[in-house]
Amino acid sequence: MKVITGPAHFQKIMEKLREQGKTLGFVPTMGALHEGHLELVRRSCRQNDVTAVSIFVNPAQFGPKEDFSRYPRPLKRDKALLRQVGADYLFLPSVEAMYPAQPGLIVDWSQGSASDLAKRYCGRSRPGHFRGVLTVCAKLFNLARPHRVYLGAKDYQQTVVLSRLIGDLHMGIRMVRVPTVRDPDGLALSSRNVYLSAEERQRALVIPRVLAGLRTAVAAGRGTLPALLTNARRELARAVDRVDYLEAADGETLEPLRKARKNMVILTACFVGKTRLIDNVIIPAFRRHV
Ligand code: AMP
Repeated sequence: MKVITGPAHFQKIMEKLREQGKTLGFVPTMGALHEGHLELVRRSCRQNDVTAVSIFVNPAQFGPKEDFSRYPRPLKRDKALLRQVGADYLFLPSVEAMYPAQPGLIVDWSQGSASDLAKRYCGRSRPGHFRGVLTVCAKLFNLARPHRVYLGAKDYQQTVVLSRLIGDLHMGIRMVRVPTVRDPDGLALSSRNVYLSAEERQRALVIPRVLAGLRTAVAAGRGTLPALLTNARRELARAVDRVDYLEAADGETLEPLRKARKNMVILTACFVGKTRLIDNVIIPAFRRHV
């Protein structure tokens, strides 16, 4: 695996490979890699001739009171894991290299339904977060110009936001949404799980449990959607420290739903201790409208 730090150098290598007719897969990450990230890399390696992974803890997507400075950065371990799963290139830029001009260009929506999308759910409690994600991914995608980009369903709203970025800027990249990888007890893998104490981790298990319960209840048509969500919020609130949100949305547009429909996603964010955890469940089909 080759490690590259210079954006122009990375772009040149990717361009050359593309000219040689290779298919390029790209996996953007912030490092502190776990099985969830590695699954994206494995998938890319299977589907493309060349796989490039980026590790960049993007300051622009963190709020002023968030964990940018203490975000885990176990680089040596990350490199070893990426070598094991067969990544070909690791792009490892500095903040200065990614943001050479300050203040630089910002990618965002000014108004309309896409801007609503970035302000809902995680966007509501993390103002500016998706602006940071859009800006950095516009840069990263433009550098790598991959055929396919691999994103995790765990960050479902991010996948919808980025698929709009790809469409709006005519980037011609295929987005592959990879199902969430979980620990055997159901907790979605996240680089932030290391912040949890043993007791907090135990309490966090309510999140996958409640989501799985909702999937079953919706599939069986057991009660109206608003009632099911209200009950689920209560159940979450008994175990976690704060339920940020639990909402049902259309799986493609993320428009909020009051009635269950095909291709629906139920999204949640909860604070356990000081750690904010997100998770979701996709409900592809159900027996009847509730
Ligand atoms: P991050 O390093 O948190 O920015 O995540 C990088 C990529 O890995 C994003 O596309 C995430 O959605 C994805 N990812 C994170 N956790 C998981 C997981 N448990 N399962 C699948 N993909 C994940």
